[in-house]
Order: sequence, then structure tokens, then C-alpha cells
Amino acid sequence: MIRHWCAAITALIASVILAISPSAADAQDAKALFSRKSTPSPHDPYSIGRHAQGCLAGAVALPESGPTWQAMRLSRNHYWGNPEMIRFVEELSRAATKVGWNGLYVGDLSQPRGGPVQGHASHQIGLDADIWLLPPGRLNLTPAERDSISSLNVRSSDQRSVNGNWTRAHARLLEAAARDPRVNRIFITPPVKLKMCADAPAGDRAWLGKIRPWWGHNTHFHVRLNCPKGAKGCVNPDPVPPGDGCADAVWWVTDALGPPDPKAPKPKPKPPLRLSDLPPQCAQVLSDE
Ligand SMILES: [Zn+2]
Repeated sequence: MIRHWCAAITALIASVILAISPSAADAQDAKALFSRKSTPSPHDPYSIGRHAQGCLAGAVALPESGPTWQAMRLSRNHYWGNPEMIRFVEELSRAATKVGWNGLYVGDLSQPRGGPVQGHASHQIGLDADIWLLPPGRLNLTPAERDSISSLNVRSSDQRSVNGNWTRAHARLLEAAARDPRVNRIFITPPVKLKMCADAPAGDRAWLGKIRPWWGHNTHFHVRLNCPKGAKGCVNPDPVPPGDGCADAVWWVTDALGPPDPKAPKPKPKPPLRLSDLPPQCAQVLSDE
């Protein structure tokens, strides 16, 4: 009899522990879970959460080739986005023809269900896109060519200025993107920001504030869109501070490139996002078929 009671109590305790502990999926690295999905979720398109902490329901694919664009690195399967982003990329590729390019080579958008993704902090909700700084030569590249060719570096080797690859057409393309009201901000290597600051005429410079200097981004620029209007559950990033942001950009080519401070504390690596760190709807986006 006593043995029976013991068994019953042990089973009860085990079931309580199971109920309060997160499920196995919740505790797993969300990057691994989302990278296994090769198709979008069967929902209406919806960006959920924040650009760097969220997921994407009902994603739409950027057609791999169009009259004025080609998606690059097809094997990564990162050409999915919110329909607003797909429209934006197609329109920007047409705008590229006005600066003398024949279109755009388009890098990573998001995974089929968004979520944390290898190689990026954001790109999680289908509203971020990387656009190559290489003006397209041909727009009939094969998938193998799109996996092998490299983009163009526009930064000098000392990282303090642009190099000879930077052109007026690049500047006009970035300006066209920054002037689009759907665009929240654009990340680009700091020397490009400073070059655009030096070249932009006085007066009409508010759009320059959206061009944000950031690490890397010397072979592509990164466009972040605001949440589509009325999209509840999509968290808008803060607007950029007012002004052209030019004075602040100088730090990037001076102090940021100086010798490291030996007394500075080492930055702690961030732990990977778990499924339970994302908005709760993301579990359904991940599991529904
Ligand atoms: Zn990016």
C-alpha cells in the first residue's frame, strides 16, 4: 500500500514539473527551429514583433528574377518578405534604372517564416532587405552564378573613406531609398555616410538622417521598412533622430577606428534567442502547416 502511494506521489510530482517547465521547443535556439522551415506558414501575411525579435506569417517570395532585379544566393532561401517589402524592392529596382543601373542584385530578405537568422541580428519579420552595391552586369545570371559572384566593396582599406568603386549613381540610389516614406532607416558603411554628407546640397538634407553609419555594410546597404499601416503586433522601430546625422558620423572614422582601450570591459556575447523569447504567435507560425 505504501509503495502504491509513493508511486502515485512520484507521478504527480513529475506531471507538475512537466506542466511548469517550458516545452522542449520553447527552450531551443529559435534560429535552428526557423532555419528548418523551407515554406511560408499558411496564414495571411503578417509581420509579428520587432525587426530583431519576431517572425513572419504568410511570407511572400520575391520572384527570383524580374525585369529589373535578380535575387542572389538563392540557395540560402532568404528571399521571403512582407508583401510591402516585396513591392518596395521591385519599385526600388525600377528606380535604379533612373540612376543608370539596369536594376538591382538583391541579397538577403528573410527566411520563409522569418525568425532569427544566421548572419544577421534583424531580418526577422520580413521588413529588412540587403541590396548589393554591385551594379548588375547581366540580369540573367544562373542560380550557380548567383551563388558564386561577389558584390562590390566601396570602402578604402583604412576604412576612413570611400574608394574608387563609389559613384554618384550609388548616392542617387541610396537617396531615392531614403526619401521613400516606407523606409525607416538604411545602414551603410560610415565613409559612405560622410561622403553623402559632403556632397548633399544645403537646405534639403532631412532625408540624410535616414542614412545610418554602421559596422560592415561596405558591399551592400540594408533597408529597414516601417511596419505596414495598421499592422497591430508589428512593433515599429523608433524614427531616426531629427537632423542629417552628419556630425555624429565622424566618430566612426576617428574614435571607432582608434586602438582598442585595454581597460574596456569585454562585451558579453548575447545568448541566442529561444522560441519563448519571441512573441507567442511565433510558435504557431512555426508549427502550422
Ligand atoms: Zn541586412
